[in-house]
Amino acid sequence: MSSSASKFCYRRSMVVYSERMPVRFTDALPERTDVVVIGGGVIGIATAWFLRARGVAVLVCEKGRVAGEQSSRNWGWIRQQGRDAAELPIVIESINAWEAMARELDTDIGFTRRGVAYLAATERQLADFEQWLAVAAPHQLDTKLLSRAEVDALIRDRPGQWKGALYTPSDGRAEPFKAVPALADALRRRGAVIRESCAVRALDVEAGKVAGVVTEHGRVHASAVVCAGGAWSSLFLANLGIDLPQLTVRATVARTAVAPDIYAGNAAAPEVAIRRRLDGGYTVAASGINEHFVAADSFRYFRDFLPALRASHRFLDLRFGGDLLHRLTPTRRWRADEATPFERTRVLNPEPSPKALRNMRAGLEQRFPALAQLPFEECWAGMIDVTPDVVPVMDAVPQYPGLYLATGFSGHGFGIGPGAGRVMADLVLGRPVGHDLERFRFGRFFDGSPMVPGPGL
Ligand SMILES: Cc1cc2nc3c(=O)[nH]c(=O)nc-3n(C[C@H](O)[C@H](O)[C@H](O)COP(=O)(O)OP(=O)(O)OC[C@H]3O[C@@H](n4cnc5c(N)ncnc54)[C@H](O)[C@@H]3O)c2cc1C
Repeated sequence: MSSSASKFCYRRSMVVYSERMPVRFTDALPERTDVVVIGGGVIGIATAWFLRARGVAVLVCEKGRVAGEQSSRNWGWIRQQGRDAAELPIVIESINAWEAMARELDTDIGFTRRGVAYLAATERQLADFEQWLAVAAPHQLDTKLLSRAEVDALIRDRPGQWKGALYTPSDGRAEPFKAVPALADALRRRGAVIRESCAVRALDVEAGKVAGVVTEHGRVHASAVVCAGGAWSSLFLANLGIDLPQLTVRATVARTAVAPDIYAGNAAAPEVAIRRRLDGGYTVAASGINEHFVAADSFRYFRDFLPALRASHRFLDLRFGGDLLHRLTPTRRWRADEATPFERTRVLNPEPSPKALRNMRAGLEQRFPALAQLPFEECWAGMIDVTPDVVPVMDAVPQYPGLYLATGFSGHGFGIGPGAGRVMADLVLGRPVGHDLERFRFGRFFDGSPMVPGPGL
């Protein structure tokens, strides 16, 4: 950890979130299965969960560790509030699915519905939040605006500082590092095959159709493959000659020591966001700091991302440091019989950002003084994969019949994970998906559709 980051934080997560984690899922690769899922994040595991529930034989290949990347590093918010209108019905389904899964699992994943509050320090912020009530209304969500006094009753710290809040009491939270591995454990008990440290190097294609995958440990035959590779999906598709405009931003998180209970849900102030944890601390993050490390793809997809850039440039920090040369000359093509970038980076484990940690500390002092003196016991960062319109792709890939894509969840894939997994399972099986997936078409990036950014990360 850089010395400036270590000033703010006792220790960076070196074991929990890196390839030093022991390999737990070591199932032998079958010769043949029905569906291969690439990626053991929340999206891959949830997709496999619902495929298995429909009696389908499924293999999940994870190059590093189950939930080693975004799916364990996130804030743990399971939020309907503030969603893109097209995502909202899926996330409503998803939060109910989280609730049902939490009951079925034998691990406490910390799922609880204690609400999400967006706190407004100015009338202008409150007016901006208010606009989302029109998105919520057709779904009979319990979202409402809170008065100053109501916010003070909800958040028991520094009363009088808020003009009001947008609040959804039925929103939830869970512990990401527990939730996805627990789901994977249960999935394996239900007969799915899960293999960690197993990169999928390439698709196996016969007569123009998907015939399986080539992994670093051998070939597996399957008639369908779901790419749920998070930040790596664009690279996987590049090797197939397919362009997926996708970039990454670094987001930094910390957890406090056990803390006074000032609020049991998830709250976002303009400067800092907090979530009560199962262990009695808070997960803390700086609001609105997203760092993009400039790379070849930044230039390749610049035009695709222009609308998103215009809408959110205030929150974007461009970074040129680190291994810029390497990032500007990435490997985009390889053969199935050679080691791939997926094997070279088993777990994407970026350094936490000193600037974000500094802002978190300042944000706590300003907004949540009851938490400000608590040490950060641990801090970490994750690379969020983002699409130009900040909503995911959930679709078939027309160039390769049998290949499906579930990626680009743009900073809000944890909450929607089970809903997206159910949708993907039914899409692969050719069953009705029950939601309008027009906004999530892969083709929107190529058919001249305007990129209309969703509400943000
Ligand atoms: C700091 C942070 C905070 C966030 N906060 C929230 C939040 O509060 N609420 C919310 O809803 N969302 C949040 N998100 C977003 C959420 O975590 C992600 O959208 C979600 O986890 C994405 O899941 P995924 O399965 O698509 O990707 P990932 O979890 O990144 O998983 C993809 C997996 O695919 C594997 N993989 C890639 N290529 C290959 C290959 N070729 N072979 C084998 N395996 C491969 C990778 O190793 C990886 O494990 C946050 C994200 C971050 C980083």
